[in-house]
Amino acid sequence: MSKIIDGKAVSAQVKERIKAETAALKEQGIEVGLAVVIVGEDPASKVYVRNKKRACEEVGFNSYEYALPEDTTEEQLLELVQKLNADDKVNGILVQLPLPKHLDDKVIINNILPEKDVDAFHPVNVGKIMIGDYSFLPCTPAGVMELIASTGTEIAGKECVVIGRSNIVGKPQAMLLLHRSGTVTICHSKTENLKEVCRRADILVAAVGRAKMITKDYIKEGAVVIDVGMNRDENGKLCGDVDFEDCKDKAGYITPVPGGVGPMTIAMLMQNTLTAAKVKNKKM
Ligand code: NDP
Repeated sequence: MSKIIDGKAVSAQVKERIKAETAALKEQGIEVGLAVVIVGEDPASKVYVRNKKRACEEVGFNSYEYALPEDTTEEQLLELVQKLNADDKVNGILVQLPLPKHLDDKVIINNILPEKDVDAFHPVNVGKIMIGDYSFLPCTPAGVMELIASTGTEIAGKECVVIGRSNIVGKPQAMLLLHRSGTVTICHSKTENLKEVCRRADILVAAVGRAKMITKDYIKEGAVVIDVGMNRDENGKLCGDVDFEDCKDKAGYITPVPGGVGPMTIAMLMQNTLTAAKVKNKKM
């Protein structure tokens, strides 16, 4: 029986640390603020925004929510971004993705000041992650790193396999593991012999977006298995990319879905916002 990695507990510890640091900054007259922008009525996005707002309250940040109508133009959205860029109370700006189809994610993200880009999606921040000189960590991969750390597993020298090569998860995940001296393989839809490659992994990160695709045949006995996937199964129930029931006796450590990577992503967003405030106020 593998040990289940409790993302809720680890994220609660991270948020406690952030809360204490935020309170200490407040005593020095420094407040931390996050602006969250949502365009349109996407139900999943609304849930994410609500959770982010709640997390801000938990750690003591000021949160500023901007809910714009579906038919907002690029010009209007850019105007808001510029306003937030210039606002001293706002340390972090998060534009909830996906945006409605008529708006170009890239144009909007490229207009957020890199020092307020707490999602770490701006090309400047992506480049910094590549060269290992970063203050903002991409939220989901950074959360995965915290979960791996919580198991006490040493990454250096280990075989790490990341399934998925998206810009927001797979690629930065591989880079963070590489910075910690893992021997990293990135798999994708064209990878041949996926099972064999995955079975080499001491640390396996699945970020595919396919419900329960990773069964026990894909994992090495005792591996650390981190499931980034957020999918719906045939009954409409939230599930990961890993077939948890099938893998739980073979893995050494495994994350559940829900309650694994998900809560960490928001905790790391809070971490980045705190970092932005500290950098701005020359506290780090
Ligand atoms: P993308 O769809 O952008 O990327 C999926 C990746 O998986 C692609 O690189 C794709 O390969 C690869 N892939 C697809 N099918 C296969 C296959 N059969 N074999 C091997 N590789 C395959 O997804 P994201 O990276 O944005 O997200 C991945 C999952 O993580 C989703 O379920 C998403 O909901 C979840 N997620 C969860 C978050 C959280 O906070 N918990 C945050 C962000 C995402 P190719 O490039 O060749 O097409």
